[in-house]
Amino acid sequence: MTADITADITADMTADTKAVVRGVRSNARSYVRSYVRSYVRSYVRSYVRSYVRSHVRSFIGLLCLTIAWGTPAPAQTERRTQNVILVVTDGLRWQEVFGGADTALIFGEPRLVGGDTVGTRRKFWRATATERRDAMMPFFWGTIARQGQVFGNRALGGTADVTNGLKFSYPGYNEMLAGFADPRIDKNDYGVNPNATVFEWLNKQPGFTGRVAAFATWDVFADIFARQRSGVFVHAGWEQPYPAPRNAADSLLNRMYATTFRMWDNNAWDSFTQAVAMRYLREHRPRVVFIGYGETDEWAHAGRYDRYLNAARTVDGYLSEIWSAVQAHPEYRGRTSLIVTTDHGRGRTVRDWTNHGKDVVGAEEMWIAVIGPDTPALGETKNATATQSQIAATVAALLGLDYRLATPAAAASLRVR
Ligand SMILES: [Zn+2]
Repeated sequence: MTADITADITADMTADTKAVVRGVRSNARSYVRSYVRSYVRSYVRSYVRSYVRSHVRSFIGLLCLTIAWGTPAPAQTERRTQNVILVVTDGLRWQEVFGGADTALIFGEPRLVGGDTVGTRRKFWRATATERRDAMMPFFWGTIARQGQVFGNRALGGTADVTNGLKFSYPGYNEMLAGFADPRIDKNDYGVNPNATVFEWLNKQPGFTGRVAAFATWDVFADIFARQRSGVFVHAGWEQPYPAPRNAADSLLNRMYATTFRMWDNNAWDSFTQAVAMRYLREHRPRVVFIGYGETDEWAHAGRYDRYLNAARTVDGYLSEIWSAVQAHPEYRGRTSLIVTTDHGRGRTVRDWTNHGKDVVGAEEMWIAVIGPDTPALGETKNATATQSQIAATVAALLGLDYRLATPAAAASLRVR
């Protein structure tokens, strides 16, 4: 009896268990089936999507190529630049621009970095040249070099040179702005520039008059741009930026210019010039702008490598600020080209990096960068040669104008469009 009951119960249990197992099995089966189905479906979908995307892309590429081949000189007809901003940071070596902090200097005498070896190395020292230059100029390398062109990396066989032979500031600024070296300009206190710069010439062209401006920390720029004769708006050195202040910000900036400690009598702080330039850009919408910073040169002359590197890092921030302002305004966005360069190099060694001039070997070596809607993103141009004298015609060419018609002595424009 007990055995029978047990057998019955076992039979019932077995039947139940079988049903449960059947249920589980069928659930599992349908779960697996639906999982596999959805996996396969999503895989196929993503494969098809990426296949279509890549083929559409290459089809569009082919289409563009066909159009490019079929159209003569597309760059001429499609030129978009309406405004040009030329930024110069005085005496910043190509060695730092392309390689970041110099090993020999940053691990040299502690006095070169004001005694702060740990802080300076933490901020600017990295294992490779690429990392070091990114640390010093993140915007320059992350945006300008990626979307534009950079001349002067001698490690890649490129050159960019000063041709005036004197390798100091006024001869350099004349060469870049007039388009040719002028042996008459042989000292920084030469006086009013006898040559019309490309800025002076542009200020006479239809659509540009009254829309050409220059901002610089160095007071000599009033003469370099021949302010009285050229009619170019120039704010230079420590002069009061707003003789007729319109608002509280104008008055505050006047006050800062008048009362802040001056490290150099003829050269204002980069930060002051930057503030005045940015305000002018937003309020007056000039079409051709020069901005000149001086601290990279001043701190190098003072033998302070830490401050020189910091000045370069700050200038990089100014470049980012300028480019952001350009992108934020419809009159500038997609219609503005930016050229960044220097007026001369400096010595190559630990002994003469602070100096430049006609007897300093390597001080003719400079660099030039261009970004804008007409400039193909070629990055660092290998084996390309460039000279400082080409900058004037390049400013005009980006605007669709031929500066050499007016000034045959000027060097040809760089091929950046
Ligand atoms: Zn200089």
